[in-house]
Amino acid sequence: MISLRDVTKHYSGGVTALGGVSLDIGAGELAAIVGPSGSGKSTMLNVLGTLDRPTSGTVHIDGYEVGKLSDAKLSALRASRIGFVFQQFHLAPGTPALDNVADGLLYSGYRPSVRRRRAAAALERVGLGHRMDHHPHELSGGERQRVAIARAVAGEPALLLADEPTGALDSVSGAGVMSLLRELHAAGTTVLIITHDRDIADALPRQVRMRDGLVVADSGQPGLVTAGVG
Ligand code: ADP
Repeated sequence: MISLRDVTKHYSGGVTALGGVSLDIGAGELAAIVGPSGSGKSTMLNVLGTLDRPTSGTVHIDGYEVGKLSDAKLSALRASRIGFVFQQFHLAPGTPALDNVADGLLYSGYRPSVRRRRAAAALERVGLGHRMDHHPHELSGGERQRVAIARAVAGEPALLLADEPTGALDSVSGAGVMSLLRELHAAGTTVLIITHDRDIADALPRQVRMRDGLVVADSGQPGLVTAGVG
């Protein structure tokens, strides 16, 4: 599903956010990318999600070599194959849950009636069938994140990328969101969760540990030895 080879990302000012990362994530995996703040997790997510291009190295997503696609083709790949969930939900205020989810399908090519039908089904799937007309400010944090997850999966993406999805939630709501992500994984979606929370990471089948822009350990690749570790 995902293959990174020798990926670097440099920012101006001499910042190296990714220092040469190689990583393979298979279809159907549920994995954590874990590491302290500043270790390069968000940069990795942006590269994996085709939101950002690496400075060097190659990225394959779902069989496509990202570096060879035009921006338009990349947008189409992203819209059809990848769902995103963020710590701060990123819902449109003053907009009912149903429309928040349906608007996530704007670039899908579906007619408005189909978008709304799919959005309703996605909200049912995350247990919010009774909250479709509620605006974000009328929902709890956990419910807002469920709406955001419904939006991310309404187009049935193969890959779901979640950046600190429980970071803004209390522990009970966070546990609910994690069990929802597990359900989506069990239903066949490849799920990658970025977290600085070791407990969350350790509860997942695979942990990819980052430090200083490098993958320093990977439970899916136990033989990995990186300079400076061990
Ligand atoms: P994490 O998600 O693990 O906290 P990030 O990927 O956000 O780490 O950041 C990795 C490094 O890259 C940090 O040193 C950060 O300050 C730097 N960085 C991230 N984004 C930018 C940017 N747009 N411009 C300059 N430096 C950045």
